[in-house]
Amino acid sequence: MIRSTLILLFLSLLVYQSQLVLASITVLATNETYVDRMAAFGPRIEETEDGLTGYLMAPLSPDLRHGCEVVEPPSDKWIALVERGNCSFIDKVRSMQQSGAIAVVVGDKYYNGWVTMYAPGDTSDIRIPSVFVAQRQYQALLQLSELFKQPMEVRMEKDDILTWPLLDMLLVVVLSPAVMMLFIYTTWRMRQRQQRKEELAPTDFVTKLPLRKFKLKETGNEDDTRHAECAICLEDYVDGDVLRVLPCKHEFHSTCVDAWLTGHKKFCPVCKFDVCRKEASENTPLLSV
Ligand SMILES: [Zn+2]
Ligand SMILES: [Zn+2]
Repeated sequence: MIRSTLILLFLSLLVYQSQLVLASITVLATNETYVDRMAAFGPRIEETEDGLTGYLMAPLSPDLRHGCEVVEPPSDKWIALVERGNCSFIDKVRSMQQSGAIAVVVGDKYYNGWVTMYAPGDTSDIRIPSVFVAQRQYQALLQLSELFKQPMEVRMEKDDILTWPLLDMLLVVVLSPAVMMLFIYTTWRMRQRQQRKEELAPTDFVTKLPLRKFKLKETGNEDDTRHAECAICLEDYVDGDVLRVLPCKHEFHSTCVDAWLTGHKKFCPVCKFDVCRKEASENTPLLSV
């Protein structure tokens, strides 16, 4: 039960995670693709047709590499490549928008993990998309852009293979039946357990049934072997054995029949008499002592 829930949780987390990294930057000259993550604010790349093409470049002065101040755009169709830190994500995107950038790529210089750029408050003034890249992608893109003699042309796009509607469908197709199955299985198990309980005799009821000590001389009649052996373990009774007498007057080792009634079935192993039946005392058994 707990394990299934964990698997479901993990699955949904996986789907959720893959939704967040569904964007990429492709360097057109080398055709190399770098995975990035869309910011939580501003327009999404898919809102522009066919991705977004521009020239990826860091601000010209290294002092301004964090993109916290308004700068002169180094090229037309400028996609600003800025370093994480010194000011908030939203400040970077705002000042780059004011500097004429058509998009912003924020890179992490120190850590190799993705962050979803989030900004509190009103972000409706943001008209350009922005993405986050981890350390490895940032370093690669930065070095490449510095290596290029002319501005480095890149295309920013969302991944075509896994799109939002497809993932939503995956969520419905995979998760809903799983939840359904879990529900059906749980109710089935509960009903099974309930049924099993009804088939057994309660322990406190069984222990109240009469007991007696067996004495060898009782079975003087040689033919009446029924009373001389326990029908459950098939052992002959010996002097001093403790026998449990069921309402149907059948006797067994108390240890044998107690285990049978509380763990197997509430019926006498010989005549199938229901020991829990209310009218047990009134019912005359076929075989009596
Ligand atoms: Zn026995
Ligand atoms: Zn019986």
